[in-house]
Amino acid sequence: MSTKSPVVLPGATLGVLGSGQLGRMFTIAARRLGYRVHIFSPDTDTPAGQVGDLEFTAPYEDLDKVREFARGVDVVTFEFENVPSATSRACAEIVPVRPDGSVLHITQQRLREKSFLQSNGFPVTPFRRIQTLVDLEEAVRDLGLPAVLKTASFGYDGKGQRMLREIHQVPSAFAGLAGAEGIYEAFVDFEKEVSVVAARSASGAFEAFPVFENVHSNHILDITFAPADIGEKLAAEAVQLARGILDALQVVGLLTVELFVTRDGRLLVNELAPRTHNSGHLTLDACTTCQFEQQVRAVCGLPLGSTALTRPAAMANLLGDVWTPGTPDWASSLSDPSVKLHLYGKAEARPGRKMGHLNATAATAAEAVRQVRDARSRLASVPRSRPERTEGRSNRS
Ligand code: AMP
Repeated sequence: MSTKSPVVLPGATLGVLGSGQLGRMFTIAARRLGYRVHIFSPDTDTPAGQVGDLEFTAPYEDLDKVREFARGVDVVTFEFENVPSATSRACAEIVPVRPDGSVLHITQQRLREKSFLQSNGFPVTPFRRIQTLVDLEEAVRDLGLPAVLKTASFGYDGKGQRMLREIHQVPSAFAGLAGAEGIYEAFVDFEKEVSVVAARSASGAFEAFPVFENVHSNHILDITFAPADIGEKLAAEAVQLARGILDALQVVGLLTVELFVTRDGRLLVNELAPRTHNSGHLTLDACTTCQFEQQVRAVCGLPLGSTALTRPAAMANLLGDVWTPGTPDWASSLSDPSVKLHLYGKAEARPGRKMGHLNATAATAAEAVRQVRDARSRLASVPRSRPERTEGRSNRS
């Protein structure tokens, strides 16, 4: 275990495992605060590597390289949860890893995550572990249909996920797991989806951003706005729930809690992410401290910043689909001066790939949503048809 000081002051070097857009925006925030940032991932010319001081390129399994990386930094954090546990353990032999590898271990596997939540009294939809076809048949009998069958590991944005509506779908859904362990979740007939991005410091200080309301399309986040339209009481409940979860996990850093709001006004935890989150991108332009600066502060042991929302705000994701007919019409999109463009430096625009987002602030959240939607639609300089997508539930909130 490291003997280095828990407070990492500006001028020091931060290490990031993972190199996507969350790492990029973390790096920009860290550099603004005067830190150096080293990035570790198997790829080159990455969104985070492009803006970092040093891009380490090696497989996560190359623990010699991982240790070399860790020796060059003062604290390690991560920007996605599928980093192997052995990688974070190898770093932790040399420097503090924040949040701790145990948080990563729980949150990178849906069964572990849901079992942790359930056993600590946090509300989740009923679920069953699926290893065999018989397990699945029993789960269908116990929890009924409709339901969602997900791979226990490596799932995000609806990947590895299948909705079951009819009993005859059971064999093919099981075959779809392709030998991987699964989780069968009772379908939640939710009214809306919200998220709480929150930070906790080593001393236990806690700060949550205002609750975000999220609208998905084909399982991928499409629009976020704040404040969420759920009333003060439920919003306070959501933040309290998040606080309980960060405390139970002893998080030092950031953690996002994705929640369903049921039609009878209850909150159920859908998923945890031990990091910044797509739904928190509006904080870049709408909060006193953005989620990325907050992550820097939390993992460095600095006081947490104010999470106050300075104005109602909205964010619209830009997926690779936007590039389908050619270069998006950026100038037209930005003709509304209150719209802000954030692009992640990804060279290849594939359908469904997160390439950037648009933020806007306005007098009301509804107005901000209208602005980002309009700005996004202006990106299409020529009429287009939407590319084919895989089957999926489209959310109604
Ligand atoms: P996840 O990868 O678990 O975050 O799921 C992606 C999206 O699928 C969620 O944001 C929901 O819109 C939907 N979803 C996931 N699990 C369920 C469930 N048990 N019931 C209803 N919708 C779900």
